Amino acid sequence: MRVAVVTEPFKVEIEDRPVPEVGDNDVLIKVVRAGICGSDLHLYKGTHAFRKPPAALGHEVCGIVDKVGPAVTRFKEGDHVTVEPQVGCGSCDFCKSGNVNLCTHKKVPGTPGWLGTFAEYFVAPEQAVYRLKNDITFDEGTLVEPLAVAVQAMNACSGARKETIAILGAGTIGLLVLAVAKARGYKKIFCTDTAEFNRKLAVKMGAFAAFDPLNCNVEEEIKKETGGAGVNVCVVAAGAPNIIDQASAVTGKMGEVVLVSMITKPIPVYTYSFVFNEQKLIGTMTYTTEAFRQACEMINGGLDISPIITHCLPLEDAGKGLELLDKKTENAGKILVHL
Ligand SMILES: [Zn+2]
Ligand SMILES: [Zn+2]
Repeated sequence: MRVAVVTEPFKVEIEDRPVPEVGDNDVLIKVVRAGICGSDLHLYKGTHAFRKPPAALGHEVCGIVDKVGPAVTRFKEGDHVTVEPQVGCGSCDFCKSGNVNLCTHKKVPGTPGWLGTFAEYFVAPEQAVYRLKNDITFDEGTLVEPLAVAVQAMNACSGARKETIAILGAGTIGLLVLAVAKARGYKKIFCTDTAEFNRKLAVKMGAFAAFDPLNCNVEEEIKKETGGAGVNVCVVAAGAPNIIDQASAVTGKMGEVVLVSMITKPIPVYTYSFVFNEQKLIGTMTYTTEAFRQACEMINGGLDISPIITHCLPLEDAGKGLELLDKKTENAGKILVHL
């Protein structure tokens, strides 16, 4: 079968590999769509923490069950499915408490022993497979995984007050946070992004306003729209060096700042603003199995987040998709590959 592999940094090749073997508890999926994620871009550039070239791309997937192992009970050939792309060790404190995302020994696709999803077939243990309704498009089914990241971010805040929320950064994850916030009843949603394309998409998807942080004073604008109080919750989905201070500045007293973007360089933070306003700063890492289940339920329930998809390329053009995301040569939201 054909598999898209990053053979060395900035080089993607289509390789011929055997179809994965199906163990007793495994589900073999004929891949229909796979999504390009920020982590794939890191793999492509050779900057990912543990996925190093040569490695197969992809962990976001949607497809049709082709074959099941003899011990599988919940799935049959022809079912439409997606996969939670993580399997914990099962025995550490985090796995036992349902926080498999924090398991030090979790297995993820694209690492030795588990091929990525940019392939004609993808195998996963039954426990990680989720059924999608037949009327959900394969495009939307692929978005369950990134949506789970947004669900996790929204689960991390108390939800005690749902009047106002600010989302700093309206890329794929920021826009998905917007969709979850809206579904959970936040009344006034503000977004920020330097790209006009993203700001327009945010408004289209229900933001009250979307500001350009390079051309306006975001703190002033949001304070003005919240009667001077600031927002209840701010989700950080961008990585500018001043982003945490900006988040604190737009957030009200006793508000919560949820950090979802992976900022790996040290940045300065004016901590007194958090102290003076009794704000909480909360980090979130991918998603728990429960958050993934909730995201799947939202998609099965008809949540429409398809506007974030801008491209659907053949598998052979996976490299082009990554280059486009890397160099931002044209407006791009979520890029999928089709098989
Ligand atoms: Zn992803
Ligand atoms: Zn574990």
